[in-house]
Formats: sequence, structure tokens, C-alpha cells
Amino acid sequence: MKKQTFFISLIIFTIIFNRVIGQKTDINYTLDMTQPQTHYFEVSMDIEGIQSNPKLTDKSFVDVKLPVWTPGSYLVREYARHVEGFSVSSGDTKLISKKINKNTWRIETQNKDKITVKYKVYAFELTVRTSFLDESHGYLNGASIFMYVPQLKSSPSTVRIKPYEKWNEVSTGLPKISKNDFVYYASDYDILVDSPIEIGTHKVLTFNALNIPHKIAMFSVAPLQYDEEKVLTAYKKTVEAAASVVGEHPCKDYTFIIHHQPGIGGGLEHLNSTTCQTGLGAYTSDGAFKGFMSLIAHEYFHLWNVKRIRPFALGPFDYDNENYTTMLWVSEGFTSFYQDYILRRAEILTPEEYQGKFMSEINTIENQPGNKIQTVSESSWDAWIKYYRQNENSRNSTISYYDKGGVIGGMLNLLILHETDGKKNLDNVFKILWSEYYKKEGRGFKDEEFKAVCEQVAGKKLDDFFAKYINGTEAIDYNTYFGYVGLKMVDDFAISNNPFLGATGIGSKIASVTKDSPAYLGGLNVGDEIVEVDGIKISSLASILTDKKVGDALKITVRRSGELKSYNITLARNPTVKYKLEKIESPSKKQEELYKKWMYIK
Ligand SMILES: [Zn+2]
Repeated sequence: MKKQTFFISLIIFTIIFNRVIGQKTDINYTLDMTQPQTHYFEVSMDIEGIQSNPKLTDKSFVDVKLPVWTPGSYLVREYARHVEGFSVSSGDTKLISKKINKNTWRIETQNKDKITVKYKVYAFELTVRTSFLDESHGYLNGASIFMYVPQLKSSPSTVRIKPYEKWNEVSTGLPKISKNDFVYYASDYDILVDSPIEIGTHKVLTFNALNIPHKIAMFSVAPLQYDEEKVLTAYKKTVEAAASVVGEHPCKDYTFIIHHQPGIGGGLEHLNSTTCQTGLGAYTSDGAFKGFMSLIAHEYFHLWNVKRIRPFALGPFDYDNENYTTMLWVSEGFTSFYQDYILRRAEILTPEEYQGKFMSEINTIENQPGNKIQTVSESSWDAWIKYYRQNENSRNSTISYYDKGGVIGGMLNLLILHETDGKKNLDNVFKILWSEYYKKEGRGFKDEEFKAVCEQVAGKKLDDFFAKYINGTEAIDYNTYFGYVGLKMVDDFAISNNPFLGATGIGSKIASVTKDSPAYLGGLNVGDEIVEVDGIKISSLASILTDKKVGDALKITVRRSGELKSYNITLARNPTVKYKLEKIESPSKKQEELYKKWMYIK
């Protein structure tokens, strides 16, 4: 019996070997990093079978390109600006190439069948969207490192990683196809750039959830103190709660790459992996750890929402240009909603903690003047030039599709709970998007299709909801939605009468002026240094309001471009709101039942 099992295993292994490892690939990369202190990755890209490849119609030349942006981060980053020393050869023959635009190199093939492209990439920016190399580790986001041949984007490739001599660990979501070497397989270019790679001496934690092996690559610049069991338990509960939204998990395995270093943060989603960054304090307090797990839940939920359940425009990607969608308030905003809702369902956040986080998101948008200027669909569309390119006036003119989208997701969840007597919630929208558009049609959804699914689940038309809150900037009728679960919003600052100038900054220099505030209407500018108020020297902006009241008229003298200028400004009432949730008096049985369903209280 044992022998038979052995032979069956051998046959299965041989089939897999031939299918994956043994398959000839047209493009094979080798990544070197012999001098990490210089921050250069050295890339070698072999392109084979040129003369017989039917995808290459004109075989006299081959174009190779580097993307200008990376999926998930909607900014043109011009990765090609970090490329140096581009050269091409075929055996001993040096081939001629020239750049034909900012990110494309055209190579004369001279009838060669195999060519080797070599270049170096300067990598010294440790964010989740860029690449980094120094003596401590290497991290790469594929879009900033690996070039591609446009006609061969759908072809498979291999990546051989040669870690710096002192390093022994490589972590990535790509399948490893060599026992002894760090060689990986990517079934197409999209998957290659969607699989970040961590290289160094980092520790790797592992756990199983839903029968899926999960790895956590823990890079840290300094020794970390954490309770491994507690951390792994929190990850496992988060993964299980996230998967319960759609109810199906598409991954064979999943890799978390976690960077711990002061001054970094954020995360980026990928098909079966994510990179998340945090400071060294993520495990030092309960609050910090819950905040960190929020990031983990966010990026993990993306493996469904945006990586597979996606707006029509977000895939297949155009790596040369901006990819426009009005739906980032769903892709990012609803993921922001779920990041804490998942933690509530995983029992990592208490109902009170969850509601506190939700209220702070509402307070953020309600205190931002841009909430009345820009709609979330406009915010999504203009992410490339506004959300990702903020300036001193962004608070006044824009709203984040993360924050506002998260709040809209929360309201839609309450609406669905109410309309369906607690039988359904926002999960049902994602379940349908998953089965209809990802699985059945294999494509993204269109704006009107998303709305139709929401209406199908809610069992009513949502024209008003979309017109007011998504394509408009009307004030959200919070108390109607919270009323469904027997709650109401109360403003803690409603009766306060604190004076307000509307200028904030560091020391006495103005860094931000709030739209329609006394400072804004009175003529103060970002960059002004406040010198005197009513003839008295001041050292900080914060001290201006000491002993002042609403209606006080001040003469404010500023230094602007070396000149002194004075402005007469009258203080107004501080319009800041600070909402909290309170129970309504004598809620109905239905409200109490829906509250329990909303908060997953058994
Ligand atoms: Zn996100």
C-alpha cells in the first residue's frame, strides 16, 4: 500500500512539476543586491523565444516598459526615474536601444531569439508603494522594479532572487518553484507586480485559519516585544471574521509583510498578500494594538473588496496612465467601514469601542469644510490629482473617500438592517457582487450595477440616498439611521461658546486656515508668522485665544514675505462638533433587536 501511495504521489508531483516548474517561460528575471548600502537593486531580464512568439508581430524590435503607478495607490509615481544603466545584449553581442518616452525602451533585436536586459533601480523609499534596500533588508513593490513587454503581459515569468550574502529569508505571495534557491513563478505580469517581496533576516510567524496557511514576515529595525500567541490569535480571529462577510475565501495561502520602524505607516493590498507598516509601539498598549489590527483587517478585507470585487475600471490595469473610477468610496471607504466592523465581529473591539471609532470618523468628516464642497464620487475620480496631492487648502476643498465612504457604508448597513428586519446587512451586497460579477462574469461592476445590487438587498429604490450622499454633499441624516437601532447622535460641543480664529500651525506660523473662518475671511494666509495681537507680542498661535471670547475684535499683525501687515479680525463661535451616541428614551423591541444584530451581540 505504501509503495502505491508513493507512485501516485510521484505522478501527481510530476504533473505539477511539468505544469509549473517545468513550463518554459518567455521572461525570466534575476534580482541581485550585492551592495545593499548603495540602495541599488540589480535586475537582469531574459526575454526568450522572440522570433517564434506569435504575440510579437514585428520582431525587429521589442519594447520594454516600467509602470508609472502601482495598483491600490492612485498617483502617477514615475518609477522609471529611479532606473539607471539600461543595457541590452544577446550572448556577446551588445544590442542597440533607445528611450522612446519616459518609461519605454525600444530594443533592436537584430534577429536574435533571446535577449538580456540589464538595469539598476535606486530603491531608498520605505513605503508600501515603493522599494527599499539597505544593510538591514530589501523590500520591493514589483511595479517599481520589474519591466514588462506590453505584448507579453499575460505570459508567465520567473524571478530568481539572490539575497545579499548575509541574508537568508525571502517572503512573498508568489509560489516558490525551487527547493534550494529563491526562484518564484508568476503566471502573468499583473500577478508579478501584485506580489511584493521582503528579503532579509526577518522572523516569519505562521498560523492556519480556515485551513489556509498564513505567514507573517516580521521586519523590524529594532528588537520587538510582543506576545506571539496573543498576536497570532488576533490575526486568526480577524481573518475568520473578514472571511465571513463574503463567505468564500479564494486564496491557497496568504502572506503578511509587516514593517516595524518609527515614522512609517499604512498598508497596500495585494491578491494573496499585503504589506503593512507601523511604528515600534504597535504592541505596547491595548489601544495601539487594536489600531494596528484595524489596518490588518482593512488590508485583508481588500483581498475581496477591490482585488476581486472591483469597479469596472480597476483591472485589467493600464500601467501607463491614470485608471479612473468614481467608486473608490466603495473600494476604500467600505473597506474602512469593515476594518472596524470586522474587529467588532472578531470580539477584538467591544460595541462601545466600535461605536467610538465610528463616531470619530463621523466627527472627522463633519469638521472638514471640504465635506460640503466635494462629493465622494468626485473625490474618487480625482484621487490622482487631489487625495494623493494634498496641499494647504485640501481640508477646505476636498473630502476623503476613505472617511466619507466609511461613514456611508455604515449608514447603508443600518438602512439594510432596518429595511430587512435584521435579516440582511451590507455583507449581502458583497455576497452578490462576489457571485455575480467576480465569479460569474469575471469582471468589475459598473456604477449603476453597484447601486442596483444595493437596492436589491435593501428591497427599495435608493435614488435619494445616492443623489444626496454620493453624488451630492447634503448633510447625512444620521439620526434616522442610528434611530433604527435605538440610538441618537448628541453633540458634546452644542452648548459651548468658545472663541474661534480658524488658523492653526506650529509655533506662531500658520499652516492651515479654515474656510469661512474669521482668519479666512479676514485675510490671514498660510505661511504668515503672527507677530503681535493688539500690540502684544505672541509666541504661539494657541495662546491667541487665551482670555478671549466670541465677538472680540483683534488687530493681528503678521510677517509675510518679510513685510509686516495688520488685519482686524473678529472672533466667531467655534463651529467644531463632537458627536457621541446615546440611547433614545424607551426604544422599541425592534430597535433593541436590531441593535443586537448590528453589534453582533448574541
Ligand atoms: Zn485600502
